[in-house]
Amino acid sequence: VRVGVVGAGQLGLMLAQAGQPLGLGVTLLDPSPDPPAAAVATVLRGDFDDADGLAELASADVVTFEFENVPAAGLERLAAAGARIAPDPAALAVSQDRLAEKRLFTVLDIPTAPHEAVDDAASLRHALDQVGVPAILKTRRLGYDGKGQRRIADDGDAGDALAALGGRDLILEGVVAFSRELSILAVRGADGQTAFYPLVENEHRDGILRVSRPAAGVDERLQAEAESLATRLLDRLGYVGVLAVELFETPEGLRANELAPRVHNSGHWTIEGAATSQFENHLRAVCGLPLGSTELVGRSAMVNLIGEAPARPDVLAIPGARLHLYGKAPRPGRKLGHVTLVAAGDDALAHRLETMLALVRAPG
Ligand code: AMP
Repeated sequence: VRVGVVGAGQLGLMLAQAGQPLGLGVTLLDPSPDPPAAAVATVLRGDFDDADGLAELASADVVTFEFENVPAAGLERLAAAGARIAPDPAALAVSQDRLAEKRLFTVLDIPTAPHEAVDDAASLRHALDQVGVPAILKTRRLGYDGKGQRRIADDGDAGDALAALGGRDLILEGVVAFSRELSILAVRGADGQTAFYPLVENEHRDGILRVSRPAAGVDERLQAEAESLATRLLDRLGYVGVLAVELFETPEGLRANELAPRVHNSGHWTIEGAATSQFENHLRAVCGLPLGSTELVGRSAMVNLIGEAPARPDVLAIPGARLHLYGKAPRPGRKLGHVTLVAAGDDALAHRLETMLALVRAPG
């Protein structure tokens, strides 16, 4: 079985690595000259919507994607020409438009932030009346890692925020007073079978994920609430593959922030910390294979290495630390790798995580 992947970054790298022992050949498409996945798999060089590159990918048994800003139209054309694409490009299209995403949540009775479409000064005024302040004005498309967003603390900020974001194709969201940011990773097989990983707690800085750890104090009810909303999304989208849903936890329950129709940074710990990783389960799903167990193997947390990586010996001296470097040149704000910390119990995990965090916080 051959799998084509649009995008060859670290997610593509880890998909290719997961496919190897299963005998699933992975070929990827990416415009950059030396993408992370090229270390372990064949990468076709071309833009994400390059017609020739996509056509070559489509000679595989199934095409999937690891990058969210892939133009959905290119994949829709491939699907129309008879290629098997999973997940369906419709899920990609929804995830690329914050308004469509929030409307889908609402249709499925999934609580989300109050929101209004904004296309000019008048619609922004109306939106502020509806949503109130503080609020966040966001671009509807091509926003990621906190880019394309402006907080509006009072009505005086509105004009500047509107101008800074281009004045149209925007969404105004009320600020959700959340206690924590969580995410759930769900996977649905070609036969409709589903599996879920336990909720994780995510810590962001400058809009970039820094740490994912087991969400403390999650009871069966909260896990079931997350699985229920993820199931509604999977079923509605006829989804095949791994889906990540980013959530805010509030005293009134979970609020969906956004979905990612792909393997997700908050699930990297599953490589060592679950019986079947998110990468393997994504491949199993899109290839029509049985899903693997999502059962935990010990307790795990993940720390992203951003901008610069700590010294290798320092990381490897931490018991249970598993280093993943993506082979990228250091650059501020760039995800260069991650470390998964595995321990037998929560106390040992907390200790190892603290040691690891001291390394990434160390000055210089
Ligand atoms: P996003 O790109 O939408 O995931 O936003 C990046 C980060 O901004 C999130 O991880 C939250 O920390 C914060 N954020 C985004 N939208 C809201 C909201 N409606 N209310 C409160 N915080 C938000």
